[in-house]
Amino acid sequence: LQVFPGHSRTSPMQTYQASCIFDGKATLAEGPGWDEERQAIVWVDIEKGKISRFYPSTHRNETWAISQKVGCVVRTSGGDLLAGGQEGLLKLNPESGEVTSLQNPEPDLPVNRFNDGKCDPQGRLWAGTMSCEEEEGAGSLYRITNEGSIKRMVESVTISNGLAWSQDGRTMYYIDTPTRHVDAFDFDPVEGEISNRRHVIEIPKDMGYPDGMTIDAEGKLWVALWAGWGVGRWDPSTGELLAKVQLPVECVTACCFGGKDYHTLYITTASRDLDEEGHKEQPQAGGLFAADVGVAGLPTPVFKEA
Ligand code: CA
Repeated sequence: LQVFPGHSRTSPMQTYQASCIFDGKATLAEGPGWDEERQAIVWVDIEKGKISRFYPSTHRNETWAISQKVGCVVRTSGGDLLAGGQEGLLKLNPESGEVTSLQNPEPDLPVNRFNDGKCDPQGRLWAGTMSCEEEEGAGSLYRITNEGSIKRMVESVTISNGLAWSQDGRTMYYIDTPTRHVDAFDFDPVEGEISNRRHVIEIPKDMGYPDGMTIDAEGKLWVALWAGWGVGRWDPSTGELLAKVQLPVECVTACCFGGKDYHTLYITTASRDLDEEGHKEQPQAGGLFAADVGVAGLPTPVFKEA
């Protein structure tokens, strides 16, 4: 137990250690989701343009190469994988390897690519974009429904990242990384509309930048910390930091719960910005990690096809 400086000194912060379960040397591993049926993690390497499925029980990693940067992937109710790339949305049939290009909401912005994306509990995909040059405000957050329509829901986003929904389905959490905040919206589960955006968590400067995120069964948020060597657990109702999972890698990108009873937090990391010295100091950068964090998470929703 330790007390995190700058936070309530009366409440001790729990720390956990994550261990590397797949030393995959990804450039920018991201977007993990749990495949309940296969007991596998579906994830992407954005920079290498790869979609993968990793089986923790056997350490097998299946990979499909997509000929563009790919920021997120979700499973569909029909058994395919739906991904967001630099050229728009695409569908991968994991059996045949066939890739089908779908809509591109930003054909006029070729430097933009999709970044983090996730399905809401009703099975709509929410996926955001960013400029590959990280141009301020160049991205948007989109909602993609089973009718195949794309609607821009949030404008002027710089690095669209983590998404999570409260268990009652009434709140959506969202991260635009450079803001250092986790924001909340009121969420209308029937219409899929969002309103009343507000800050609920501020990430302290010495913890890096908020990237991907997931929510646990107690309604607390687990936020991956880019340049922050770990994943923090925050209470979105108070903004309080409750726990941290420590990793031997500086740039931690995203996380999801999975495994038996959803008791394991799976975590992705990046090696992209390391120089030769950095690679020596962080040999597991780009690997997949796991930690038992003493609380269960929630299943990863799939995209509901018509
Ligand atoms: Ca991300």
